Amino acid sequence: MNATDRVGGTKPPTLQLSGLHKSFGTVEVLREIDLTVERGQMVFVLGRSGSGKSTMLRCCNRLEEPSAGSIFLEGQDICARGVDLDKIRRRIGMVFQSFNLYPHLDARRNVTLALRKVLKLGRDEADERATSALDRVGLANRADHYPGQLSGGQQQRVAIARAIALQPVVMLFDEPTSALDPELVGEVIAVMRELKDLHMTMLVVSHEMAFAREAADRVVFMADGRIVEDAPPEQFFTQPSEESTRAFLARYS
Ligand code: ADP
Ligand code: MG
Repeated sequence: MNATDRVGGTKPPTLQLSGLHKSFGTVEVLREIDLTVERGQMVFVLGRSGSGKSTMLRCCNRLEEPSAGSIFLEGQDICARGVDLDKIRRRIGMVFQSFNLYPHLDARRNVTLALRKVLKLGRDEADERATSALDRVGLANRADHYPGQLSGGQQQRVAIARAIALQPVVMLFDEPTSALDPELVGEVIAVMRELKDLHMTMLVVSHEMAFAREAADRVVFMADGRIVEDAPPEQFFTQPSEESTRAFLARYS
């Protein structure tokens, strides 16, 4: 976590997408994407289904290969030839709509697995980090519960604990609350808000408008694979410059 780092300074942005394009065959799904996430910022991405939000996030840790353009992580071009993808991915935490926990492992083991396999930590150190991460998401007392014994909200919090335990420089969230029953959304949002308070850098695809309005540093709107709006939340929600943004807001908020 970047809690002790100063925001700003001379460091490059945590994440910078520059002229990013992505095509699947002849279909262009990302066009000329420019997006900067500064250290400690929480940037929200909104847009209709199919506008390219997930593809953009997946390009950021190269689950998808960009067709053109560059992605810089703390100034390093992660699309350059010869980059160590495992090392890059260790620095990027990702949380999906589906929690993707291992059902046969308890919460603690779900968190320690990557710490042991990826970071090669010893059992004690991995356990210590897992305990601290589970505590951070309010689940210290559920460490020995299996996913099937946890609510959806608790499972998503374990998935967040698993990601933050690796101490990434940025967290990518792809609709983290979309699979949850409405009454469980709040607990996941509360954890994300706490991460923001700890200055975790986050790029969040989510339709939780109230949360975006209150907590985002910037809100980005995507339409047809382009970023058509990029503004502070107050401006975004009260005076969007694009007609497509207005139509979206009228329908969803
Ligand atoms: P969003 O997350 O905003 O709903 P996506 O990034 O999932 O949008 O998808 C953007 C577009 O790219 C959609 O038209 C989708 O059908 C298409 N797409 C996504 N992944 C693939 C793929 N692996 N192959 C072909 N088309 C894809
Ligand atoms: Mg999506």
